[in-house]
Amino acid sequence: MLSTMQDVPLTVTRILVHGALVHGRSQIITWTGEGEPQRRSFAEAGRRAVQLANALRDDLGVRGDDRVATLMWNNAEHVEAYFAVPSMGAVLHTLNLRLPAEQLAWIVNHAADRVIIVNGSLIPLLAPLLPQLKTVEHVVVSGPGDRSPLDGASAQVHEYEDLIAGKPTTYDWPELDERQAAAMCYTSGTTGDPKGVVYSHRSIYLHSMQVNMAQSMGLTDQDTSLVVVPQFHVNAWGLPHATFMTGVNMLMPDRFLQPAPLAEMIEREKPTHAAAVPTIWQGLLAELTARPRDVSSLTQVTIGGSACPPSLMEAFDKLGMRVCHAWGMTETSPLGTVARPPAYAVGTDEELGYRLTQGRFPAGVEARLTGPGGERLPWDGESAGELEVRGAWIAGAYYNGPDAEPLRPADKFSEDGWLKTGDVGTISPDGYLTLTDRAKDVIKSGGEWISSVDLENALMSHPDVAEAAVVAVPDDKWGERPLATVVLKPGAAADFESLRVFLAEEGKIAKWQLPERWTIVEAVPKTSVGKFDKKVLRRQYADGELD
Ligand code: ADP
Repeated sequence: MLSTMQDVPLTVTRILVHGALVHGRSQIITWTGEGEPQRRSFAEAGRRAVQLANALRDDLGVRGDDRVATLMWNNAEHVEAYFAVPSMGAVLHTLNLRLPAEQLAWIVNHAADRVIIVNGSLIPLLAPLLPQLKTVEHVVVSGPGDRSPLDGASAQVHEYEDLIAGKPTTYDWPELDERQAAAMCYTSGTTGDPKGVVYSHRSIYLHSMQVNMAQSMGLTDQDTSLVVVPQFHVNAWGLPHATFMTGVNMLMPDRFLQPAPLAEMIEREKPTHAAAVPTIWQGLLAELTARPRDVSSLTQVTIGGSACPPSLMEAFDKLGMRVCHAWGMTETSPLGTVARPPAYAVGTDEELGYRLTQGRFPAGVEARLTGPGGERLPWDGESAGELEVRGAWIAGAYYNGPDAEPLRPADKFSEDGWLKTGDVGTISPDGYLTLTDRAKDVIKSGGEWISSVDLENALMSHPDVAEAAVVAVPDDKWGERPLATVVLKPGAAADFESLRVFLAEEGKIAKWQLPERWTIVEAVPKTSVGKFDKKVLRRQYADGELD
């Protein structure tokens, strides 16, 4: 028997219309680096999104599911594109501006982008690439920056503000199938080649509702969220969509992502929430230690993208910023788990332990653990296996061109359609995920596994250590052994022997797991989304020898 309920498609259009109307007075505040930030209400951003859609259709000829790419920082215009493009039925493709040029060109060609909206400050990145971009017909420039490198470009160049000026403020939005593509994002390739994930209207809608759940980020229109995680990194973890549902104000850092301007933005604009990967927070912590500011407004910090070191959580807790750890991937939209402790642990010795897990699965994300032989492992908090997930905002395949069958590589999708995350961990009986490592990062020493994350966390709890990354290097006797790369805090003098002793103390790390290879570096190489780049480290030390 069918239900008697209305069948209203869950679309990005509906999120836009709702946010602009019901939360019209909420604001997108974009940092400009000098003077007053730009302040734009949701109502105005919504109006401008409508004008942009009109311009894309009438002036640029965007039709059907044409791909419109963005090469932009986090700012109000990027939010406008987030809503205009999917609402008209086209597909928004956010480009990662930190990727190497040839990878970026490959991705644009693979997605067959017709239009690129670019921030003026990123023209030096785009202009030399344009001759290689086979499908790009139009470039739309927004914000400050020298336009001259685009002179003589093969694509037509437009000014964003000129393009939308005077355009109608209404649009007869098409009634879209909720399963249709709304946006796409390529994985940042931390562990392999980029792969295209295509989000549907429905997946974005449902994911946004989950972001807004009290057990997730749970923000309201009384909050302002400092959205540090880039809009090109898995849709800024869903925040632009989720905030339009609930009226949360967005504070956008644009290109001012260094610790000092971030600290200044927090002091001046008083956000209550912020979201970013651990490396950003490490930098901010060092800045706040060197130059204390009033950051008391910021009481909730979402950390994800890689494991949150316990030392970082404790340091932020001391500053009054409560860290909430979360796990996800490009393929999971991204929020897969959020580490809010259960009621029965709050106020007990177990609370911190729960907060340091990757978090609890929300309704809508099913999970299972698979052992090396393909066997299902129990949720007992001890059996470690590869995490597989399934749900309405989890990818079931990768993009392979508009007319080709989507790709379902066997190492990424199980035969029955679950996503194989490549992450190894345990799940507790009450549904909390603890990741021990990425399958590719785990160190296989003499038939036993050593968690690189455990070693890193232990090292980063040493008072002299600013950052530490551990990778496997080949070893004649054991197959692989850990190599520790360590960044010391300014003026610190710890040596390898004292770090080894520290790791062995109180049984923090078992003796056989202690690294015998160490190197002190100025900085750990980072990926395009700010994670430790272990591919680079592995290449650097591929022969197991230190330079
Ligand atoms: P990439 O795979 O290129 O780094 P993603 O941003 O999609 O791009 O990364 C997803 C991966 O990041 C996950 O599979 C996991 O290994 C890691 N990750 C994300 N969040 C966490 C977390 N809280 N703790 C540990 N690892 C995490």
